[in-house]
Order: sequence, then structure tokens, then C-alpha cells
Amino acid sequence: MCSRKFFVGGNWKCNGTVDEVKKICCMLNNGEVPCPNHIETIISPPFVFIPLVKSMLRTDFQVAAQNCWKGKGGAFTGEISAEMLANLHVPWVILGHSERRQLCGETDAIVAEKTAYALDNGLKVCLCVGETLEERERNETGAVVARQTAAVASKICCWANVVIAYEPIWAIGTGKVATPQQAQEVHYNLRKWLDCYVSPHVAMNMRIIYGGSVTAANCKEIGANPDVDGFLVGGASLKEDFIAILNARNYQH
Ligand code: PEP
Repeated sequence: MCSRKFFVGGNWKCNGTVDEVKKICCMLNNGEVPCPNHIETIISPPFVFIPLVKSMLRTDFQVAAQNCWKGKGGAFTGEISAEMLANLHVPWVILGHSERRQLCGETDAIVAEKTAYALDNGLKVCLCVGETLEERERNETGAVVARQTAAVASKICCWANVVIAYEPIWAIGTGKVATPQQAQEVHYNLRKWLDCYVSPHVAMNMRIIYGGSVTAANCKEIGANPDVDGFLVGGASLKEDFIAILNARNYQH
């Protein structure tokens, strides 16, 4: 019997106005979802809306930032430090999202540094990994995901506050979702990698969640796989679909 608690994150990316944020919070607050014994839910609005979301959101959902600076705050214009997030009681941060790796030049080393610093400052980290279409076509998926995870493994000792999101880049925002078999295969191999190179305990307990065009229509089939422990959801997290995704597994409410 698997003891990993189902984990679902809503990544709002760079979307929303005050009115829209209020509407989404109301939609989330009215949703019927499994109790926190069965599921852990994080909601990740843009930085500027974090206080509003924290003030409105139901208490069984936690708030996550979408990024943070790699070290202590200071003369880093435009950045938000891990200490600031901790000071605002934001428990989670998403790091290494492919949009930040690809559009903002975040290397494996930077993502690893950020992860270590965020964990050291009391944050929990949803660490994103995943391959490009070209890498998948060259059969490099396993190697890419292992390389991205190894960079983090070289900087941290404790994985208890980490969730890994496998997000194939070709599936993000494209409507082209990975098949349940593709997701299961990558998650299984990543768990095996953790077993070999980190520890059997970490491998067994790590929540490995899938992200990339998850919808109400496809979540049940993907979420039924033994190594898929939940989802990171972009587009669908702004809509009523998100409630259906939280109900992907048939837990009692
Ligand atoms: C994401 O950005 O993390 C994501 C999974 O996006 P989408 O669900 O829109 O593909």
C-alpha cells in the first residue's frame, strides 16, 4: 500500500487581475475536494497576488510562489528572496519550471542553488524537471531528467520537503499531453534513479507529479499510474477543471 499523499499544484503563471483572482479563489473555495488526509494542494499565483490569495483562500489549500532568488536578498533588482516568502508565511515555492529554464536562462546549477537556499530557509520546493521534444526524440528523456535531478542532489542532503514535477516541455501549454504510459515510464525511472543515487527511502517517499496539459478529461487515467503521485497544472488551474483534477482519484470527501 503506497503511503505517498496525492499532491496537486495549480500554477497560475503570469495571469490574472484582482477581479479574476477573486473569482478563481471563490471557485476554489466552493469546490468539493478530498480532505487533506488524502490530498495536498498548492496554489501558485503571481507574486503580487500572494497576499490577496492568502487572505481569501480556504485553509486546506497552501500558497506557493513561482520562483525565488538563489541566495540572500540585497541588491538584486526585481527579485524576491526565500526569506521574504518565509516572512510572508508562504510555505512552498516552485523552482526550475521549464519556462524559467528556457526563457530566463536558469541552468541546472542555478536551479540547484535556488533549491538548496529555499530549503535552508524553511520553504518546501516543487522542483520541475523535463525534456524538450528533440531530447525525447533522441531517447534522452531519462538522462535529461537524471541530470537535472543530480544537480540538485549535489547541493541538498534532505529531500523531505521536495516534490518533483516531471513536466515534458513539449506537453506544457500545448494540449499535447503525455500518454499515461509515457508519464509512468519516466516517473518509474526517476524513482529508480533516486533509489540508486540518493536513497531507497527518498525514492519510496518522493512524490513525483506529472505536469503538461493535464485536464479534467485526462487526469484520471494518468493519475491511476502507480508512480504518478499527482499533478502540476497550468492552464486548467485557472478554471473549474481544477476541481475535477483534485478529484482525479476517488477519495472520500
Ligand atoms: C505548467 O506550466 O506547469 C503546466 C503544466 O502548464 P499546462 O498545464 O498549461 O500545460
